[in-house]
Amino acid sequence: MELKLYDTLTREKRVFTPIDPARVRMYVCGPTVYDFAHIGNARPVIVFDVLFRLLRHLYGESHVTYVRNITDVDDKINARAAERNIPIRELTDETYKNFKADVAALGCLPPTVEPRATEHIEEMKTLIERLVKSGHAYAAEDNVLFNVPSMPDYGQLSKRPLDEMIAGSRVEVAPYKKDPQDFVLWKPSKPGEPGWPSPAGIKGLGRPGWHIECSAMAWKHLGETFDIHGGGIDLVFPHHENEIAQSRCAFHTGVMANTWMHNGFLQVEGEKMSKSLGNFFTIRELLEKWPGDVLRLQMLMTHYRQPIDWTKASSTEVSGTIDTWLDAARLSKPAETYANPTTELIDILSDDLNTPEAVSYLHALAKHAGKNELDSQNFTNNVVFLGIFRDFRTEVQPKYKGASLELVEALNAVEWLRRTDLDLERLAAILKREAEFLKYYNKRRPISEALRADFLLVNKKIEERLAARAAKDFKESDRIREELATMGVILKDSKDGATWEVAR
Ligand code: AMP
Ligand code: ZN
Repeated sequence: MELKLYDTLTREKRVFTPIDPARVRMYVCGPTVYDFAHIGNARPVIVFDVLFRLLRHLYGESHVTYVRNITDVDDKINARAAERNIPIRELTDETYKNFKADVAALGCLPPTVEPRATEHIEEMKTLIERLVKSGHAYAAEDNVLFNVPSMPDYGQLSKRPLDEMIAGSRVEVAPYKKDPQDFVLWKPSKPGEPGWPSPAGIKGLGRPGWHIECSAMAWKHLGETFDIHGGGIDLVFPHHENEIAQSRCAFHTGVMANTWMHNGFLQVEGEKMSKSLGNFFTIRELLEKWPGDVLRLQMLMTHYRQPIDWTKASSTEVSGTIDTWLDAARLSKPAETYANPTTELIDILSDDLNTPEAVSYLHALAKHAGKNELDSQNFTNNVVFLGIFRDFRTEVQPKYKGASLELVEALNAVEWLRRTDLDLERLAAILKREAEFLKYYNKRRPISEALRADFLLVNKKIEERLAARAAKDFKESDRIREELATMGVILKDSKDGATWEVAR
C-alpha cells in the first residue's frame, strides 16, 4: 500500500512522494528549552517518531533525515535564567538534557539532527539579508520586519481571512511597522540579554525572532525545499505561515515543504492544561507514576489529528493492556526483535498514521500470541516497531557490554521489553550466579517462569546477605544463609562475593 498523509496546506490526504527517495527529509518544530516538557509537548514528539520509524522502514534507515530543532534563545528562557540566577546556557543545557531523557523514556528515537538555534545565527542573518535585498523585509528602529503585503499569496496554510490575521498579529503592533501584519525577523537586545551583531546595517546587538530560526535550521540541514514539515496544530498560525513566507521569499520557491502535518491538541481531564487548574503535568511527573510504554501507548490510541483528552483513568486502563501485551510477548526472542513489523501493520500506518487502528490490530494479535512462538514473535516485532516495547538488539543489548545473549535473555525475558537502564554492575554479579544456576537447569530444560521468579528471589536474598556481612551483622547474614538452605540453595563464600549451588 502507498503511504498517504494528510496535508494541512491542501486540506487533503495525499499519496506521499518524496523529492528524493534516497534522502527523505522531515523537519519538526522542537521545544523551547526553559523548563520540563509537559505531556502536550510529548504528543508531536511521539507522533513524528512513529512517522520517522515508518519512513525508515519504507525508504531505508540511512535514507531518512529527521531534523527537530532546539529553541534556545527566547524571552521565556531569559526570564527563567534571571529568576533562577543561573547563566542562560546552563538553563538551556539542563533543560535539553532533561527533555532528551524524557522523550527517550517515551520510546522516541533521537532525530538525525537536533540543531540549536544559537548555533545557526549566521544562517538566520543570511536569510534576513536576502529578504531585505529582495524587498520582502525592511529595517525599522533596530528591528528587521518581514513585509507581509510583499508576498501576494501569504496565508495559504492557515487560510484565515485577512482581518483575522491582522487581529492575530496585533499583539506586536508597533508604530514602525509598515503593515500591521508585518512580523519580526530580528530585534534589538537590551543590556544583559543575549545578543549578536545585527544584520541589515543595524548597529547594536540583536537577536532573532522565533520564526526565522526554523527557516534557517531547515535550510541548513534539509535544503531550500523538503518533504515534510510538522508540529502541533497551534503552530499553523502564525509560526508555520511565517516560516513559509520567509523561506519561499528568500529562495524564490513555490513551496517550503511538500507536506504539512499537524497534531491535534491534548487536554487533561476535559480541560485545557493549566497550572492554576492543577491539571498541568510534565512528562517527568507522569513517568514517576507510569512506565514510558504506558504513556506512549496511551498517546497512540487516539489518531494524531484528533484532540486527546488525557485522563488518569485511561492511564490505568492502558497499564492493564501493557500487562496483557507483555504476556503476549513472553515467547518471543529478544535477538530477533529487530524492527520487523508485519505488512498488515505497515499498511495500517500507511493510511495517515492510523495508530488507533494499529492498536485494535495488536489487540487481536495478542489474543493468540501468548500461546505460540511465531505469533508471539510477530506481535512483539510490531510492538517494538511502534516504539512501545524496547528493541533489544539496538537499545538494550549494547548496554550489557558483551554479556552473553543467552544469559541476558534468560534473566530478563520480560524486563528487556521495558527497560534499558538495568544496573550493569548488579547485572554482572547476577550473571555470574546465573551461570551456576544454568548449570543445573538450563541444560536440561528452559527456565520456567516460576523458576525464574525463584532465581530472582535467591539473588535478592544473596544481596541482602552480602549487605548484612558488609555491615558486620553476622546474625542476619547467618539467618539468610539458613533461609536459603531451606530453599535448597547452598552458598559458597569467596573473596569476591558469593556463588551458589542448588542442593541435589
Ligand atoms: P512549545 O514549547 O510550546 O513551542 O511547544 C512545542 C511543541 O509542542 C509544539 O509542536 C506545540 O505545538 C506542541 N504542543 C504544545 N502544547 C501542546 C498540547 N497541549 N497538545 C499537543 N501539542 C502541544
Ligand atoms: Zn518552527
